[in-house]
Amino acid sequence: MSVQPTVAEGRRGTQTATTCRSCGGGDLRTFLSLGDMPLPDALLDPANLPEREPRYPLDVAFCPGCSLVQILEEVDPEELFVDNYLYFSSFSEGLLRHSREHAFRLVDERGLGSDSLVVEVASNDGYLLRNFLERGVPVLGIDPAPTQAEAAEAAGVRTLREFFGADLARRLAADGIRADVIVANNVMAHTPELNSFAEGLSILLAEDGVATIENTYVRDLIDHCEFDTIYHEHFCYFSCTAVDALMRRHGLRLNRVEHFPTLQGGTLRWWVGRSDEVEESARSYLEAERREGLTAFGYYEQFGARVDAIRTELVELLRRRKAEGARIAAYGAAAKGSTLVNSAGIGPELVDFVVDRNVHKHGLLMPGTRIPIRAPEALLEEQPDDVLLLAWNYRDEVLEQQAEYRRRGGRFIVPVPWPEVV
Ligand SMILES: [Zn+2]
Repeated sequence: MSVQPTVAEGRRGTQTATTCRSCGGGDLRTFLSLGDMPLPDALLDPANLPEREPRYPLDVAFCPGCSLVQILEEVDPEELFVDNYLYFSSFSEGLLRHSREHAFRLVDERGLGSDSLVVEVASNDGYLLRNFLERGVPVLGIDPAPTQAEAAEAAGVRTLREFFGADLARRLAADGIRADVIVANNVMAHTPELNSFAEGLSILLAEDGVATIENTYVRDLIDHCEFDTIYHEHFCYFSCTAVDALMRRHGLRLNRVEHFPTLQGGTLRWWVGRSDEVEESARSYLEAERREGLTAFGYYEQFGARVDAIRTELVELLRRRKAEGARIAAYGAAAKGSTLVNSAGIGPELVDFVVDRNVHKHGLLMPGTRIPIRAPEALLEEQPDDVLLLAWNYRDEVLEQQAEYRRRGGRFIVPVPWPEVV
């Protein structure tokens, strides 16, 4: 069964969803409008500045039919996914460790061996699949990004350069390929055609196979006011209820749930398969979401007002510091940081520069607000009084890296869940 979302023509390069991306329901209820936003990863070259940057509305809605939270706008993929060499091989130590532990556990728990197959959707440079190879388990990566796929193949990870969906799964199945395990981390939210994605899992998965899917948890987003994780590349924000409804439509169900509270601001790992054996973890998450109201609009309704309050408080704090003569920088020129400064209207008049560890970004400007991007060493060279921590999801790592800056009296401002100086 396939539910194709209905979309209306928006501005050039966008379409606006009028029905739910998962269940097709037509009663989408908007609870947050972030305004006209530039694409968050479209960094600018100061030597070649466009007269105007394209901007697109960004509205978030809840579907009462299946509880899925989603943005309404769909920017054309060729505009949305810009040169991704900028974001290549920037995995943190923590993420690598997390992936390795998961891979080894799957090998042991599922009894994987040389006659098994593990498929990963959005396999990047093969950083996760390499762990299975190390244990002698055959793998297949799927990733349309050429640079990443090349790096994966150089490391011995066979990689198909394609987008994953029902069509690809059907072609693989026709060639006799079935997966004992499918891993899909941080990709489901980037997928506008959710039903094709879930159908693809169902087609490709062996009869007793299991898929593990990781994405940030909508509950953490709402409870901790992580509004800067909402941008055009993330179409959907998932609860367990929404994932279970999506999977059931395609003959799968949610069997197990794990929560990683500090990973990207709060990540869930959903285990899905054809088995009717729903473990206690999945039952209790589904039950808690019903009991605590994540399945009704009321849970989300006040979010817009809470976001407004944070933005106002943050800008007032920065203005106050500026008026006291403070010099302010920021840390983290990623999509999340761009969303925060653009939606709050924080530009070079408040923040002198932003630092980022990715050398490919140095010398460029953030989209929209055009704050210049420099190397992290600039914090010690310039010793600004305050640093707005846009990369709050790496809070502990950044504070540790910047021990010297802090020892010299530098302070960090953490923007969410409520602006705080540390
Ligand atoms: Zn729905």
